[in-house]
Amino acid sequence: MISRRSLLRAMLGALLVPLAGVSIAALPSRRVVRPPGAIEEERFLEICVRCGACIEACFRDGRGTLEPCGLPDGPPLIGTPKVNPLRAPCEALYGKCENKLPCIRSCPTGALKWVEPDEIKLGSVKWSPRLCIAFLGGTCLVCAEVCPVPGAITPEGRIPIFHLDRCVGCGRCVYACPADPKALVLVPDGEVRYRWRRGSSR
Ligand code: SF4
Ligand code: SF4
Ligand code: SF4
Repeated sequence: MISRRSLLRAMLGALLVPLAGVSIAALPSRRVVRPPGAIEEERFLEICVRCGACIEACFRDGRGTLEPCGLPDGPPLIGTPKVNPLRAPCEALYGKCENKLPCIRSCPTGALKWVEPDEIKLGSVKWSPRLCIAFLGGTCLVCAEVCPVPGAITPEGRIPIFHLDRCVGCGRCVYACPADPKALVLVPDGEVRYRWRRGSSR
């Protein structure tokens, strides 16, 4: 069920997108990490009505990694949803969502399409050794402790080694990293927001 606030946002979005036309769509924008099930970016920008229903659904029951893109992300992206692991990790796979994926279920337009939870790959983590407490000689490895995916972060001595072929982009390590500024950021992986299943033809 879409809320009144979501409906108003959707109406505003529906007005703004055609008014904005080609000129705004052509303005530069960042690549952001999209919610689970987000379709290919160009089409996503066409059919996402910026209603915020996925963001509201994500916040229910104490989750809340999604937020609307703002001007710094680029005018064409304003109001569309993005993952911000500094708010909270995405719980789609190993946490409070319990495979229910309320963000996808709440999307009224198909900008988010159902994806099996074990196929989700939101992006990848990017490590900056020069900011990492462990790499600089301190004691840490918090990232390896919180990562829910076996083999995605393997400690080598005191240093974390990241295996991006296994990372699903949940952002848990980014959220927990105690370095200031953080030694980890979550980056998009291009158009593919899915993990290839063995034997999958997708
Ligand atoms: S992805 Fe779907 S639910 Fe989220 S803002 Fe866009 S249209 Fe609304
Ligand atoms: S490396 Fe970080 S982002 Fe990747 S799966 Fe592990 S905790 Fe999640
Ligand atoms: S949590 Fe951050 S500071 Fe600690 S080892 Fe991992 S990347 Fe380095």
